[in-house]
This record gives sequence, structure tokens and C-alpha cells, in this order.
Amino acid sequence: MTVKERAIAVDKALKGVYPDAKISLDFANPLELLVATILSAQCTDERVNKVTKSLFKKYKTAKDYANATPEGLEENIHSTGFYKNKAKAIRNCCATLVERHGGDVPSTMEELTALSGVGRKTANVILGNACGIPGVVVDTHVGRVSRRLGLTKEDDPEKVEKDLMELIPKKDWVGLSHRIIHFGRQTCKAQKPLCGACPIFKMCLWEGKGERV
Ligand code: SF4
Repeated sequence: MTVKERAIAVDKALKGVYPDAKISLDFANPLELLVATILSAQCTDERVNKVTKSLFKKYKTAKDYANATPEGLEENIHSTGFYKNKAKAIRNCCATLVERHGGDVPSTMEELTALSGVGRKTANVILGNACGIPGVVVDTHVGRVSRRLGLTKEDDPEKVEKDLMELIPKKDWVGLSHRIIHFGRQTCKAQKPLCGACPIFKMCLWEGKGERV
């Protein structure tokens, strides 16, 4: 079996386990997704969703965030952790949206990654989930699981993204990211992966994998 055949087989198996895998952040438009994604760094999606429920009622436009006082925004997002940095990133990013994009979130990788605090991962989340433009999101789960499965040897997220894009058809890029993220959170965990209950045990090349039960 080639790496490409194995990658497609892995994705097919994960489709069976997570047929409806989708983003777990709540949002109604690209701006809300951008803010939620910035807040999700080092925080659970459940916590972010609790915070954004009231945040999105208070701040509706990029101008609202750009004009917010640091203290006010920090208080609203406090429980997501690293709140000072996150408030700064949201305010700076939204100020740029107002200055350069009329308050709208742009829909190209180049324009998105030019925004303060927005890297390829966040840009791909927005493009794939709010703009209908396929991309592979490489977070800590996608990187780890892809390496364990032998789909990449790379540590650099950008190189992992490139490897996965070459292995998986474009139409599956967004779904694959969600499936691997769910799988990484629930089964192929960083510490003590649940190898005994792993649905793709036979396809895993990781020498550190546990015993099949
Ligand atoms: Fe992850 Fe273990 Fe499954 Fe390999 S066998 S993919 S390490 S859970």
C-alpha cells in the first residue's frame, strides 16, 4: 500500500467513525469565527462557546472590537486564558479589518495571514468553514496523528499541511481536518492514546503504539 492509498484508507475509516465531523466552535459569520478561533488557542472549544455566547451579542462588528477598551475586552474573554494577548490580537486584527477591508474579513490566504495574530492554521479554519475554500488545518492533533500514521515525517505545520494536501483529494481537506481533530481528542491522544480501541490500528505505523485488545 502506498502512503497515498493509506491516507485515503485512513480518511475513509475515519469518515465511518465521524460521518458528521464539523467545527465545534459556534459562529454565524466570518468575523465571529475569526474571533472564536483566536480565543481557542490553549482553550477548549466548549469554554470558547460559553464566552462567545455573550461576547457576540456585545461586539457585532470589527469596529466594535477595534474601539473596545483593552480592559473591557479582557474582562469579557478572561476565562479563555492568555486574555491580555488575545484581547490585543483581536483589537489589532479588527483595526486592520476596518482600515484595509472595510470591516470585512478577507477571503484569501495572503490577506488573512497579513492580519495580526493570524497564521495559516487560523486562516485555513476561516477559509474552509466560513468561505467555502478548502484547506487543511494543521493543529497539534493533526500534526501528531499524521506523524503517528506515517502520513508525514514533518514537524513544521506548514510542511505537514503540504504533505496532507498532496495525499488527500481537495474535496476532503476540510472534513479530514475535522475528523483527525476529533480522533486526536478522543482516541489518539497525545498522552496514552487509546490504541486498544483504535479503529485504524492496523494502518498505524507508530512504533510507540499500544497493544490491540
Ligand atoms: Fe493513535 Fe494508537 Fe491508533 Fe496509532 S494505534 S493511530 S497511536 S490510537
